[in-house]
Amino acid sequence: MRSGHVRIAGRSIPVHSLNTLVIGSGAAGLNAAVRLHACGQTDIAIVTDRLGAGTSAESGSDKQTYYKLSLAGDIPDSAFDMARDLAAGGSMHGDIALAEAQGSLEAFFHLVELGVPFPHDRYGAYVGYKTDHDPRQRATSAGPLTSKRMFEALAAEVRRLKIRVFDGHDVIAILTAGKGPSKRVIGALALDRKKLGGPGRGFVLFNSVNIVAATGGPGGMYEHSVYPESQSGSHGLLFEAGAVAHNLTESQFGLASVAFRWNVSGTYQQAVPRYISTDSQGGDEREFLNDYFPDMGALATAVFLKGYQWPFDPRKAIDGGSSLIDLLVYDETVVKGRRVFLDFRSDARGDRRLARFEPGQLGAEAHGYLEKSGALMKTPIARLRKMNGPAVDLYKTHGIDLAREPLEIAVCAQHNNGGFRGSIWWESSVRGLFPVGEACGTHGVTRPGGSALNAGQVGSARAALFIARRRAARPLAEAAFGRAAGSTVTEKWDQAGAMLGRGKTRGLSPDECIAEVKRRMSGCGAVVRDEASVREEKARARELWKRAARELGAASTRDLPRSFKALDLALTHAVYLEAMGEYLERGGKSRGSYLVPDASGRPPHPLLGGRWAFPLAGPGDFVSANVLEVRLNGLGHVQKKWVPVRSVPRPEGWFESVWADHRNDRIVVEEE
Ligand SMILES: Cc1cc2nc3c(=O)[nH]c(=O)nc-3n(C[C@H](O)[C@H](O)[C@H](O)COP(=O)(O)OP(=O)(O)OC[C@H]3O[C@@H](n4cnc5c(N)ncnc54)[C@H](O)[C@@H]3O)c2cc1C
Repeated sequence: MRSGHVRIAGRSIPVHSLNTLVIGSGAAGLNAAVRLHACGQTDIAIVTDRLGAGTSAESGSDKQTYYKLSLAGDIPDSAFDMARDLAAGGSMHGDIALAEAQGSLEAFFHLVELGVPFPHDRYGAYVGYKTDHDPRQRATSAGPLTSKRMFEALAAEVRRLKIRVFDGHDVIAILTAGKGPSKRVIGALALDRKKLGGPGRGFVLFNSVNIVAATGGPGGMYEHSVYPESQSGSHGLLFEAGAVAHNLTESQFGLASVAFRWNVSGTYQQAVPRYISTDSQGGDEREFLNDYFPDMGALATAVFLKGYQWPFDPRKAIDGGSSLIDLLVYDETVVKGRRVFLDFRSDARGDRRLARFEPGQLGAEAHGYLEKSGALMKTPIARLRKMNGPAVDLYKTHGIDLAREPLEIAVCAQHNNGGFRGSIWWESSVRGLFPVGEACGTHGVTRPGGSALNAGQVGSARAALFIARRRAARPLAEAAFGRAAGSTVTEKWDQAGAMLGRGKTRGLSPDECIAEVKRRMSGCGAVVRDEASVREEKARARELWKRAARELGAASTRDLPRSFKALDLALTHAVYLEAMGEYLERGGKSRGSYLVPDASGRPPHPLLGGRWAFPLAGPGDFVSANVLEVRLNGLGHVQKKWVPVRSVPRPEGWFESVWADHRNDRIVVEEE
């Protein structure tokens, strides 16, 4: 890496020139850097807003899952079977699924070698368990903080390899040159937080041949979110660079606590807590689930099942299924403006129709589970302590004592299955731009639990290999880079100046802008998507983005990162709502983790009337046979295109042919 200064519009701006810049320090970004180094490409650096921020480092769940090819015992498995299972949720391209399956063991053992404590038995078998959408016990876990353990192991390796990390830097633009198919990355522009107060406003440039965009999911778009606060996402950067995204409509939503963001899955539900709602002041307490179940046994069994049927799934929202609970929580919180809590202090009391809860009312499977766990105690907290003491301690360390106070929850956004489109080498539609991890939307409508972490590791390793072999050029000479980057840098400088000019009081504050984005997305672009509301709100979202570009203020240079973040989120939510609108206009129905109200379908419960009646999307529907791609064009319009889902390929796999291709460097090649 060469460091110097470049003159743009009369200003001298620091510039670092290198082959590859990795943006983001989650499990995917760190792995990209480590793998680049291993492939011999050492002219690299990582830039991140905070080492230790992001979903990998700051979130987890009851038993955070990692998905890989099955390895233990006598369960037969193959990469083809795994690829088919990855793609079985629909709208996932088969070639990407095959690459993720094929690379899963190598990626897994890389983590094992780095010290991630995945458990194995005395013979060395990395035994697995079944996760959602998984027929083969391919899941494993290093505990509630699997992704954090991955982050720690990879960060230690980055330190050991002495890979340069630019910490405390917010990237505000990806710089490109050329147009159409010849568009390519030339670098990035960031704000160095330590230098914001200086005359250069903290502007720093990276002149690179490649960018690995490991910026994670768009967690900052939702009011109800279980992404950590530090993970807001930076999709706007890639939209502005012209990268094609796909499957943006497909996210996962489920129940999570809001004061401290944590999924209330697994034993938090298997302990069968009492669900209550109150008015906004905490008065008028009600056991709001009571009206919707024929008896306490059915209610409690649905709560229990929520433990391992965590994401909302419209298929489980009918006939008293566990996802009816998510809908009822949504109804209380978003529609009625009440608050919902899990109360572990005492059992559900029932009402005139429903008896008070006792474990004997549970269905056979749920009762057997509690019995085997020795957890047929009198209160939810006692049952939870017995089954999973650390689950209680976890909340205590965050100042919440489940034995004394109820836990506030909501239906929260957790993960985006879609994101930016990548080739089988994870290169986006822009040459030299490689989205990896959650920023890269490889998954389809549903995915096996744990496959996000696998995709992040496999994708970043494949991107690294491709960069090392095919994108190893040197960066531009500084003067040429300055000329190529000049217009975008000047535009961002002027934008920052205008924000500062408007200050705190004139114009739109970043907090107001972000609050509007969050309200809109949780209101109409989350777990319930009404076509008329999406149509109305997508127009308002676009207005907000335009308004933000004209009116956003920044109180001081210290606020510039937040103002640029607000602009990024305003653009991101406008594009997401365009994608959702297009899906609905094409006749898209309920699927994955969201419900599309449609009077032609069946109501989830008679008491909910026709309001949330819905039919499910079918395999023969247009939206199921095709994947929706979107792209922001140079005029700021969202272009949409439906492309057929590619099936899982069946390469011949003849050893002599593959060996010949390998010897003649015909494997890691450009896609046609
Ligand atoms: C509660 C919860 C539970 C989950 N459980 C599972 C599970 O069991 N199994 C599974 O497979 N997946 C799970 N996931 C999803 C999975 O954890 C994430 O998809 C994955 O960790 C994302 O990793 P990443 O490296 O892509 O992004 P992240 O870890 O989110 O990292 C993104 C990085 O980019 C940085 N960044 C972003 N924008 C900028 C910018 N403009 N400038 C500089 N830096 C920037 C951030 O600070 C951060 O360092 C879960 C997610 C949540 C929220």
